Amino acid sequence: MSQSQTVAFHTLGCKLNFSESSSLSRILESEGFSQKKFEEQADVYVINTCSVTENADKECRHLVRRIQRKSPESMIVITGCYAQLKPKEIADIPGVDLVLGASEKFNIARHIREFTKGDSAKICSCDIDEVTGFHASYSQADRTRTFLKVQDGCDYNCSFCTIPLARGKSRSDSISNVVAKARELAAQGTKEIVLTGINLGDFGKGDDYYQAAADPLHPNRSAENFFGLVRELEKVEGISRYRISSIEPNLLGNEIIEFVANSDRFMPHFHIPLQSGSNKILGLMRRRYKRELYAERVGLIKTLMPHCAIGVDVIVGFPGETDEDFQETFDFLHSLDVSYLHVFTYSERDNTHALTLKPVVPVQVRNERNKILRNLSFMKLQYFTEKHLGQTRKVLFEKQDRNGMIEGYTDNYIRVTTPLRTEWVNNIVDWKI
Ligand code: SF4
Repeated sequence: MSQSQTVAFHTLGCKLNFSESSSLSRILESEGFSQKKFEEQADVYVINTCSVTENADKECRHLVRRIQRKSPESMIVITGCYAQLKPKEIADIPGVDLVLGASEKFNIARHIREFTKGDSAKICSCDIDEVTGFHASYSQADRTRTFLKVQDGCDYNCSFCTIPLARGKSRSDSISNVVAKARELAAQGTKEIVLTGINLGDFGKGDDYYQAAADPLHPNRSAENFFGLVRELEKVEGISRYRISSIEPNLLGNEIIEFVANSDRFMPHFHIPLQSGSNKILGLMRRRYKRELYAERVGLIKTLMPHCAIGVDVIVGFPGETDEDFQETFDFLHSLDVSYLHVFTYSERDNTHALTLKPVVPVQVRNERNKILRNLSFMKLQYFTEKHLGQTRKVLFEKQDRNGMIEGYTDNYIRVTTPLRTEWVNNIVDWKI
């Protein structure tokens, strides 16, 4: 393969996928590829897929068709969660050349070099139980804010979720590696790091992790945990802000909440998945907490940090969710002092326990419930924002948008948009809301 080859990425799904796409593109760049936008002509197109997306299959087919129409000679590589879950299905899509599973995606450069366009689609994958290594990744849309992957995989078995099948067992980076990466990013001018993982609170846990404790380079790894990580990151000079992308309520201990409340660098902002406000449904989902624990976590956060933003994930239309159960979820969320909701409509996934649960909620009812909670979210966000009117908070301004405006977030995640002042880009400014 010549040094002048070009590559374009398209990423579906979560922040972790985006950070991995960034790392894959840096790997290819170091191998002599130059980057193109997905809309442009490229020699190689990489689609990093997601298994959570409802129409993963349709979306993937659609993108492959688009590429083929535009550039029939280009190589098409599919990777990501969906590629791990359904490699054969993807390889059967006309036009797909390479399918890279979880174990092979970081060997992308070698696989591209070894492949000849015109060969039949090649699957490079292995059983998810054999996927053990941890690959550090980070994404950088601009230098202001970086999503840094510190953990991957999940040992939980929530009955609706395919992520453990797509990403494997929980495993993490070492604290010393993450701290070194944070220092490196600070030297490059990054002001804010968003700590990212699949089950972030599980940082430091997992079988592979304990095996790695024998690693002479990291003698104390078996004693590491998420709280230890945040304490060490707090000491890194040059990073002004950290956010915790999402953390399970049962793993968000008092010590972490108290630490954030007293921290200069960890922002008053949590995203805590709830999924349902009904204990019956939480049980069916195999979640590891009850609503009472969730309310307690929110209560402590708001007592220590009344200004703290709290985001909530919630799923509507899970099998067995009656009108009464949904009402319970609505009432619970209504009563909670949270700032916004991310509402997901339940959709069936192959190989999950939830598929066996009855009765199934009709799609129309699922959609109606989604709409009701989205309205509630809108009102919560409005209320949260208005409560801060007149206050002065620190805003980290990011980049200029197309209309000559600039955007940034307060410490507690209120979005501010204002006409551009170039001296504000990547700077923290006291801002009266
Ligand atoms: S905690 Fe549950 S929902 Fe989250 S990745 Fe693990 S199994 Fe999936």
